[in-house]
Amino acid sequence: MQVEEKKQPKKENPIPGVKKSKRIIKHIVVHCSATKEGMDFSAEDIDRWHKNRGWSGIGYNWVVRNDARGTIETGRDVDRIPAHVKGINRSSLGICYIGGLDQNGDPKDTRTDIQKHQLRSLLKDLRKIYPEAEISGHNQWSSKACPCFDCKIEYSQI
Ligand SMILES: [Zn+2]
Repeated sequence: MQVEEKKQPKKENPIPGVKKSKRIIKHIVVHCSATKEGMDFSAEDIDRWHKNRGWSGIGYNWVVRNDARGTIETGRDVDRIPAHVKGINRSSLGICYIGGLDQNGDPKDTRTDIQKHQLRSLLKDLRKIYPEAEISGHNQWSSKACPCFDCKIEYSQI
């Protein structure tokens, strides 16, 4: 008797920290860390930087690292109010990819292919939980280059 091997659907690892917030989420905002191309930093590094600014810790809810896997790390828990865009912190979530500057320190979309993929995966997962939330870039809220690409165009189909 031939036993047919059941094909299991390929399960991807769930993205850490993705869950429904106790807060009402109207905006999901993408940032860059404003660090130079090719360099990698962790959520722990950013936590330290933000503490040095006198904040309670990392202002973002997620970090997409510039490592070989584009590892997604959790920052502030989604139930806690992030610190990332003046005026909408209470009703938003913040995601930061590592990069955003060229070697001279000028704004540049430095995202690697894997970072692009990971950002998209995270946004898609969040979209399922927060179908009403609008995805935007920090530069749509203030006169900053961050995140150095046009989220409105790139994420219009998510
Ligand atoms: Zn920003």
